[in-house]
Amino acid sequence: MSESFNASVAQLRAALDASPGTDGLLAGYVALLETAPDSALIVDGLAGIDPDAYSDDELRTKVAGLLRDAGALEMAGAWDPVMAHLSSGGAPRPLPPVSGGRAKAKGPVIGFDDIGGLEDVKTQVRRRIINPFLKQELFARFKRKSGGGVLMYGPPGCGKTMMARALAHECNAHFLNVKAADLLDRYIGGTENRIVEIFDEARRRAPTVLFFDEVEAIAQKRQHDSHARVNTGVSALLTEMDGFDGQNEAVLLLGATNVPWSLDGAFRRPGRFGRTLFVPPPDKVARRFILNRALVGRPVADGLDLSDVVARTSGFSGADLIDVVDTALDYAIEESDAAGDLVPLNAEHFKEGLAEVRPSTGEWFSQANAYATHANRDGLYDDLAAFLKKHRK
Ligand code: ADP
Repeated sequence: MSESFNASVAQLRAALDASPGTDGLLAGYVALLETAPDSALIVDGLAGIDPDAYSDDELRTKVAGLLRDAGALEMAGAWDPVMAHLSSGGAPRPLPPVSGGRAKAKGPVIGFDDIGGLEDVKTQVRRRIINPFLKQELFARFKRKSGGGVLMYGPPGCGKTMMARALAHECNAHFLNVKAADLLDRYIGGTENRIVEIFDEARRRAPTVLFFDEVEAIAQKRQHDSHARVNTGVSALLTEMDGFDGQNEAVLLLGATNVPWSLDGAFRRPGRFGRTLFVPPPDKVARRFILNRALVGRPVADGLDLSDVVARTSGFSGADLIDVVDTALDYAIEESDAAGDLVPLNAEHFKEGLAEVRPSTGEWFSQANAYATHANRDGLYDDLAAFLKKHRK
């Protein structure tokens, strides 16, 4: 079996990671991909493929699938010369210029291609928020109303905030990150006023991604005996989310919660948080991606193989993985200090990091299990249930 396809994916991925904007063949290919109906899907998809995990034939099928899903089957023809060229070891050669390429939006530094895994969440966010915002004319032609947000839930540290930040980048929008608990005010009317102020600010600075973190602090189920301030917060938030006369058109709404089952059902109506999406801990491919991303620009021992770290970090959140890297770095720094010379990060440092950091998602899953099993009447937690089924030992 030829190694060339495998190696090409690895090189393409590495080159995309290292310098997504360079001239030459790779940039030409990316520019070509960017003219595809759903280009980011392809570029993100390529970045998410671990060439070590598949045979050549499987990789071919995967790339073809990516192109097909993105409505870009004709791009498949452009893939072969890229592959042949890379595997021949030749210097990058520019592809012919492509018309219609999209300029990279300026904005915060986090983009979709900085996020490992979460392909389903990216697809939904793209379909429900980014496309209606960027392709308003097309949506109007189909009389498809835009508006409405997405609610993300899952264990902490797995990329919900990152996703919101990346959404702002993809839409070249401002990013307003609001911790819902900070809006609670013990004075009568205080909470409502703050909610109105936040939406006003979002509209004033539009386009804006308005991200409500820990949204349950305001949006929890209305209970007859609960405090009035919470109840009034719920209706104020609903009113602002609905807006009037299309005033929220350039306010893109995302919410995050660790406890979706505590939320008032009224928030799930279309036009509000119309989709509820599970944000799982990173799988193997995503863990490798997150670790590699964390190591960029740091001194790393030649040939350091992360396979062992990847294999031993099932159940670790992205934030836990960053903690492992930081702890390993501390050991490398200590050793360098003692040696009076730079000791690059090596497998031993990672072993020490792994011995210190525990996965943090277990507690969340033991709580979530009951809801996925017994409170999933509307299929709201189907993706969570499927995840639990797959990972049950
Ligand atoms: P959440 O909002 O779900 O609690 P964050 O988005 O704040 O989690 O993630 C915390 C940190 O962990 C991020 O800043 C990032 O460094 C890392 N991280 C988590 N998930 C991912 C991911 N899927 N891809 C890349 N980095 C991640």
